[in-house]
Amino acid sequence: MRLSEGRMFYLVNDRRPDQEFAHCWDCGKSDNPRESAKCEQCGSDLRGRRFLMSARWDEKRFKAYEAFFALKLRHPGLASPIEVLRKDGQLLSIIPYNGEGLMLDEAAPLSNARVLDVGQRIAGMVAWLQRHGVKLAKLTRANMLISPDNTVRLFDLEVSDVLPGPVPEAERATELKSLGFILRRYCNVEAEDLTAFLASTEEGAYPTPAAFGRAVEQRFPAFEGVTYKPLTGAMSDVGLVRQLNEDNWGWRKLSNRARLYVVADGMGGHDGGEVASDVAVRTICKVAFERENSENPHEDLDAVENLLDEAFQSANNTVKSQAEEKGNDMGTTLVALLMLENRVAFLANVGDSRAYLIRDGQLHQVSKDHSLVAKMVERGKLTKEEARVHPHSNILLRTVGTERDVEIDIFRVDVERGDRILMCSDGLWGEVEDRDIEGILNTYGDPRIASRELVRAAHQGGGKDNVTLAIVEVS
Ligand code: CA
Repeated sequence: MRLSEGRMFYLVNDRRPDQEFAHCWDCGKSDNPRESAKCEQCGSDLRGRRFLMSARWDEKRFKAYEAFFALKLRHPGLASPIEVLRKDGQLLSIIPYNGEGLMLDEAAPLSNARVLDVGQRIAGMVAWLQRHGVKLAKLTRANMLISPDNTVRLFDLEVSDVLPGPVPEAERATELKSLGFILRRYCNVEAEDLTAFLASTEEGAYPTPAAFGRAVEQRFPAFEGVTYKPLTGAMSDVGLVRQLNEDNWGWRKLSNRARLYVVADGMGGHDGGEVASDVAVRTICKVAFERENSENPHEDLDAVENLLDEAFQSANNTVKSQAEEKGNDMGTTLVALLMLENRVAFLANVGDSRAYLIRDGQLHQVSKDHSLVAKMVERGKLTKEEARVHPHSNILLRTVGTERDVEIDIFRVDVERGDRILMCSDGLWGEVEDRDIEGILNTYGDPRIASRELVRAAHQGGGKDNVTLAIVEVS
């Protein structure tokens, strides 16, 4: 059904025409005639039971998860496994499936009320688990299940330890940091206060879920009722083959006149690519914000372009410094949009993550790929179609974090109301042809829905790479 970092999800159907008997999942009677609708012993419905099964392979955590299962904890906010077993070096965990969705499939942004509601529910559940001695290594989006009535429940947890008593007060902040990280990325670009609140949560401002819950309670009335026009959408997905997601994205309101949106595609494997893309996104957003709010505001367009250039360069040099410290060769692509007063779009890129303009239903590629095959196409040695499937299509000529003072391409587009900008990693454009991307964008006007459909299309195209994209509509 779905790959996530560290695990694979399967949807399991209890329909076995090859089996003579039907098993009753309520009372355990296993010799009901196959065609029976109800269990002969307890009368339960025998038709169409479905289960969600996860398979994980990080053996270090098997024991802790089994200890958690042995507690047989039950709570409405927890989808408790009905069975946990080891098979072929994997740990399988099974829950009944009733049409729930995965948080993994939710595009950003969510409404403020939704972000706060999810935060409060999850924090409450974490507090409850901690009281029962269950410690989590971290929370991820893959641990969140969305019921048909839209409530979020925890499942398939990353349990690091099960203690004989409650988790000590001093050790209750771990899960909150990852919760802050997850939720911050679901905030609308306009929701500055909420974003700042969650960023501080991520940095450890709240020592316990209870403290976080109280803070949400206080802020809820101020944040909850604010709504925004559906002008943006973003999503990052691991794809169907890779076990790591090394892509990243981010957005930030810089000032009343400017917004910044970025997509990055990291390379360098575990502790490399995912770090490089994260550092690049955080740095460019932070530096651009500081420059925009410095004492000498950038008045003319050239100065705004310089601001973007400086922030981009700073991201490059920060990744480079961290790579030197770590002694690895991590790097990342980076594509950024600075939207000024909904009038001028400054697009900057290094690598092969792309920026497209969609105007009057037509998709135009604005950025140029800094790749070997793009150069060969430019010189007439390859056609665009040959380039897509070329064995060296992944060789980049320029990346962020490889050299100090990288050369950055910056494009300036005078935008009009209704124009859209799409930024994406090669996991999208490598799997979905431009005309199909265009078709999806023309079919789905809401950027969040379009984001989800584009990721779905990338999966249908093979999902061989991480897929990340951001869509911004000019209002
Ligand atoms: Ca990629």
